[in-house]
Amino acid sequence: MNMKISPAAERVIGVLRGAGYEAFCVGGCVRDMIMGREPNDFDITTSARPEQTKACFHGFHVIETGLKHGTVTVVIDGEPMEITTYRVDGEYLDNRRPSEVFFTSRLEDDLSRRDFTVNAMAYSRESGVVDVFGGREDIERKIIRAVGEPDRRFCEDGLRILRALRFASVLDFSIDRETAESIHRNRALLRNISAERILVEFVKLVCGKGAARVMGEFVDVVCEIIPEFEPSVGFDQRNPYHIYDVYMHSLRALEAAQGDKYVKLAVLFHDIGKPGSFSEDERGGHFYGHHALSAELTERALRRLKSDGKTLHTVVKLVNAHDRGLPPTEKSVRRLICSFGEEDTRRLIQVRRADNSALVEWLVEPRLAELDEIERIVDKIHAEGELPSLKNLAVHGDDIIKLGVSPGKRIGEILNKLLDDVLDGRALNDKQTLLDRAKQYIEK
Ligand code: ATP
Ligand code: MG
Repeated sequence: MNMKISPAAERVIGVLRGAGYEAFCVGGCVRDMIMGREPNDFDITTSARPEQTKACFHGFHVIETGLKHGTVTVVIDGEPMEITTYRVDGEYLDNRRPSEVFFTSRLEDDLSRRDFTVNAMAYSRESGVVDVFGGREDIERKIIRAVGEPDRRFCEDGLRILRALRFASVLDFSIDRETAESIHRNRALLRNISAERILVEFVKLVCGKGAARVMGEFVDVVCEIIPEFEPSVGFDQRNPYHIYDVYMHSLRALEAAQGDKYVKLAVLFHDIGKPGSFSEDERGGHFYGHHALSAELTERALRRLKSDGKTLHTVVKLVNAHDRGLPPTEKSVRRLICSFGEEDTRRLIQVRRADNSALVEWLVEPRLAELDEIERIVDKIHAEGELPSLKNLAVHGDDIIKLGVSPGKRIGEILNKLLDDVLDGRALNDKQTLLDRAKQYIEK
């Protein structure tokens, strides 16, 4: 097996071993190397106590990240490397965090505190892979399995329930039966976990390759975190364009979604307000105004999960706009880019692609063709350079004041009319042209 560890990790291990200690890469990076994936970072585990580690890296920039938990960060060529002493966790009092940790001299003890078999392996060039819980076999079989007794491990730290789903999604693995049953049984333990820790795992889950499959299998866990989804599960849309219930439609759309976390989250949430906006007449089910309720529920959920502002703002905006009228014309696309910005316009197109991929089959192709056309228009507008905006309009507020309008709301109204004229191609963005038009507006 070709295990390629980073030069910085190699160096850390070399220094610690040179001082007579054991040292290994551990956790996610070993799993990723075995799978042929690029590791995010290389965590190091060592028999050296934190003070001993610090002494080994005398002369380096050392950050005492979590001395109490045995972690020291050493900066090697600008790269921060986390080095943690072999440890076992003390008693867990609140399904969250151990009350204390104990250092140990045995690597096996350190591996046994880790969450899943695929995350509980260590590696060094000298010793090869250390795999006491069958992690390699589980990678082979594509299985997430708790280390030890699942009930006990989830009771120690409820976040592991969501981490299991996260790894199943990101690695596209399934969850071992016993572990899965324990997850269903213990899902309420997630209530003891802080919103911040939940959101980190949840976003990774939603962005993973297997997200739709995993969230379909563990609806109960999803609703534990986001109860706003409950009414969507099994909600029959009674509408000829839809073949799935609301929750399944959202998952099918998520499966089709291409793009970043904002796109994926918006796709997942886009119809969450549908059950609450349902009405029915002789033509079938309707969801008038569901985008607004969806946006409201999305905002509520993301706020509760303590989302950062940019994520909250972007996702809510995309949800709110997911079904607004957008004819494939230059005029309407120009307007959208002006109010949304190009980046979010492209995201919105991705959201709509995903949404439209999960409709009744005969609708999919024409809808996607229209979105391709809209995207072509965005590219064209992009190639033409900066779009007109109030900022780069050839006339400004003081020009209007010079025409005799007194400062106030009226100035902004006139400028916006001029901007509309430019955007819609009725006028060139040229000073004299716009001043002439402004005079006409003033006279009116
Ligand atoms: P990623 O590639 O996303 O960084 P990772 O496997 O490195 O995934 P981290 O959250 O960075 O995951 O954690 C590093 C390692 O620490 C894990 O591989 C696992 O061995 C251990 N670990 C992390 N969180 C827990 C936990 N809540 N319970 C038990 N072990 C954990
Ligand atoms: Mg990691």
